[in-house]
Amino acid sequence: MRVLVTGGAGYIGSMVCIELLNEGHELFIVDNFSNSDASAITKIMSITGKMVQYANVDITDRNALEVVFRTYSFDSVIHLAGKKSVTESIENPLQYYYDNLIGTVMLVQLMQQYGVHSIIFSSSATVYHPESICPIQEIAELKSSSPYGRTKLAIENFFRELCDAHPTFSAVLLRYFNPIGAHSSGEIGEKPLEVPNNLLPYLMDAVSGKRPPLEVFGNDYDTIDGSGIRDFIHVEDLAKGHIKALYYSMEHMGCESFNLGSGTGYSVLQLIETFATANKIEVPYNIGNRRPGDIAISFADITKAQQILGWQPLKNLTEMCQDAWRWQLKLLQEQRVEAQIVYPTKKTV
Ligand code: UDP
Repeated sequence: MRVLVTGGAGYIGSMVCIELLNEGHELFIVDNFSNSDASAITKIMSITGKMVQYANVDITDRNALEVVFRTYSFDSVIHLAGKKSVTESIENPLQYYYDNLIGTVMLVQLMQQYGVHSIIFSSSATVYHPESICPIQEIAELKSSSPYGRTKLAIENFFRELCDAHPTFSAVLLRYFNPIGAHSSGEIGEKPLEVPNNLLPYLMDAVSGKRPPLEVFGNDYDTIDGSGIRDFIHVEDLAKGHIKALYYSMEHMGCESFNLGSGTGYSVLQLIETFATANKIEVPYNIGNRRPGDIAISFADITKAQQILGWQPLKNLTEMCQDAWRWQLKLLQEQRVEAQIVYPTKKTV
């Protein structure tokens, strides 16, 4: 199949591209590199041994995006481009609604114009009502608590209405829980450009001494050890879910949503403990206050994706922590080399 991947140079996008290429598909990446860089594309090619074409295009730039649709033909689109920080979305909702919603509308306009009827959309578990009963099923009530989440929800609603109006259109909504880890080669993974908000990227910065100790946001939740519980999923397993969704989309019209998680909840303190044991390293942390907007427990019921997509997450929490740390060490090494190239040490005469 020929697949357009928006946001294909990002953390999840690059893993999806590797899986697509390994499965023998052709792909074209569009990315504006706002939270990634072209080195990800070089890595995708070196890991898979395949050529990848890409364009530095912002999906809200309709003219630039149209050039891609005019030049290449696609069987489907995997749409991951968009902004993804809850905190930033509260500070700048306009940017979030513009990039996420307008970007998606423009993409779909062009899909219709150029006869592409299938899309896999990267949605999020944040679309669920904060008080949903766990494990959360896809039929649970939808109600998001942040502008970011509401852009995802608005896009989900848009796809449902679009599929009702155009019965030949297929939209698969993938609701990610907490993707962590890195490619098992250790060559590619998450590369936050700013101070990470998410748990594991921050934890690794704290371990490597780049930032102060990790703050555990609350130990007074009604959970086994008082810290929050989340459903961590290895990013490679998550990426494989997209390939299954792609095959499903080729055979099913209409709009369908699927949870992609491991189906098991682990607490923040359990993750810290597992990371320390898996990598034989100490994790510096303190207990802090709850983070506003956080919920106590969130984990998925993944039965629907298992039964309908035939998807099964394979990697456990220890492997997630090991793969993440392997990549972090590689990243630190790369950044040291880059720093030497950009800022050569002055020789004292
Ligand atoms: N968390 C934490 N310290 C941090 C970042 C996150 O204790 O520096 C906790 C957070 O309160 C939540 C869990 O880790 O219980 C996962 O947070 P993350 O931001 O990674 O994902 P979320 O589930 O909130 O989208």
